[in-house]
This record gives sequence, C-alpha cells and structure tokens, in this order.
Amino acid sequence: MRVVKRLDEWRAAAEGLRRRGRTVGLVPTMGALHAGHRALCDAARERGDALVVTLFVNPRQFDDPADLARYPRTPAADLALALEAGADLLVEPTGDAMWPRGAQSVTVSAGDLARRFEGRDRPGHFDGVASVVAKLFAVTGPCRAYFGEKDYQQLCVVRALAGDLGFDVEVVGVPLQRDPDGLALSSRNVRLSASGRASALGLSRALVAAASGVAAASALRERMRVVMEDAGVEVAYAEVVDPATLAPLDDDAAGPARALVAGLVEGVRLIDNAPVEVG
Ligand code: AMP
Repeated sequence: MRVVKRLDEWRAAAEGLRRRGRTVGLVPTMGALHAGHRALCDAARERGDALVVTLFVNPRQFDDPADLARYPRTPAADLALALEAGADLLVEPTGDAMWPRGAQSVTVSAGDLARRFEGRDRPGHFDGVASVVAKLFAVTGPCRAYFGEKDYQQLCVVRALAGDLGFDVEVVGVPLQRDPDGLALSSRNVRLSASGRASALGLSRALVAAASGVAAASALRERMRVVMEDAGVEVAYAEVVDPATLAPLDDDAAGPARALVAGLVEGVRLIDNAPVEVG
C-alpha cells in the first residue's frame, strides 16, 4: 500500500492504476475508521477495484468548531485498517493541500436537497461536503466512489453532485453497518458513556418500530418520535421521505419510503435511517 499526501502524487498514482487497466474504487473518509468504513472497502474490492482510501477531516463540513476539535483522530489504527482492507493507495492530504486559497476558495453549493434535515440543523454542512467531494473526484479522476447509506442524505447529495457537475464517477451506495445491539456504527459513538449508548439505541429502535407495520407517514413519524423520547434522545427530526427526492411524504403516499432520524445524546449528534413502507 502506498501512502501519499500531495495532490500531484495522488493524481498520478490514480492515473497509474487506470493505466494498468484497473478501475479505481474511491472510499472517502474522515478517518477514525471502523467496520462501517471497512464495508465500503470490501464492496470496492469485491468488484475488483483498485482501492483508494482518503482520510481527511474536512473542516468545511463542520458548522461547529467545537465539534471539529472533538472529532476522533486515530491515524495509526487507520493505517492498519486500510492495509488490512487491501488498499492500494492511502491518501492523507493536509488542509493546506486541499484548500490552498483558504477562505478565498471556490466552493460548491449543494442545492435544495441540502437545505432540509441535516442541512437545516447544520448550516453549510452539505456545501462543505459537496466542495470536498468535488475535489476528491477531480483529483482522483474517473472512478467508482463508495458512500455509506448511513449518511443517506449525503449519499443523495453526492449522487446529485456527480450527475449535475458531470464527473466521470459512478456513485455506489453501501448498506448501513450496525453493532450487534443495533446501534449504527459511527466514529462519534466513542464519545458516548455506557448509559448514553443505551439511550442512543432509541434511534435504531425507532426505525425498527417504524418498519414493523405499514402505516400512514404521520403515524410512523409519531411512532419513531415516541420511541426516541422514551429512550432519552433529544429528537432533532423523525421523518418519512421519498427515498429518491427526500421530499417528506403526506398521508396519501403509499409504497416504499425511507425513515430518517437524528437526535442528540450527551451532546453527541447521531443519525440513522432505514427503508420503511407507508400506506
Ligand atoms: P465518515 O468518515 O464518517 O465521513 O464516513 C465515511 C464514509 O463511511 C461515508 O460514506 C459514510 O456514510 C460511511 N459510513 C460511516 N459509518 C457507516 C456505517 N455504519 N455503515 C456504512 N457506511 C458508513
């Protein structure tokens, strides 16, 4: 596995892999790697892609500087996990390499999709995501890019970005990975105490409750909110949306939908989602 920090080395290495007839499988991450990230790596390797993992804690997608400062950083363990996952290339760019013009940099606006849910509660978050993902796509060049369904709204934003800006990138969604107790794997989970973790299970339990029987969208929203509040989650939203457009569904809607939940536990913002059926 080769490790690079500079953008010119990264661009040339990806180009080299393509020249050898490989499809580049890009797995963008913010580090603190866990089994959720590993699933993205495995999906790329199962397709025979040359695996390129990027580690970059992107300051632009944090609306809260304290959240950025607290974000876990585990570079040695990340290196080991990338190696074990069979990465061909590990890219660890510095902030200066990614944004040499600092605050003057050109940014990408993520559009309407980005103004609801996570985007409403974290202003500028998806513009930060879209800006960094556009840069990763531009430097890596033609590739398949793997994103987790854990961040379902982000996956929708990235698909829109690739299509709207014409990147030669196939965006692949990878199913959400959970701990055995149901908690969605997240780099942020390490900040929860044992009792916080018990409360955090309210998110996945809310989704299980929503998926347990077909009902009108408003009934599913209510069901999820009650389970989360009972568990001690400070609810940010509990929504039922169209799985492609993320438009909230009304009670006339019937068929497959996506339930999205978010909440705070011990000051840690957690998200989760699952397919549900409305009718
Ligand atoms: P992050 O490092 O949190 O920015 O995540 C990097 C990528 O890993 C994103 O595409 C996430 O959606 C994905 N990811 C994080 N946690 C999980 C999980 N539990 N299951 C599947 N994908 C995940």
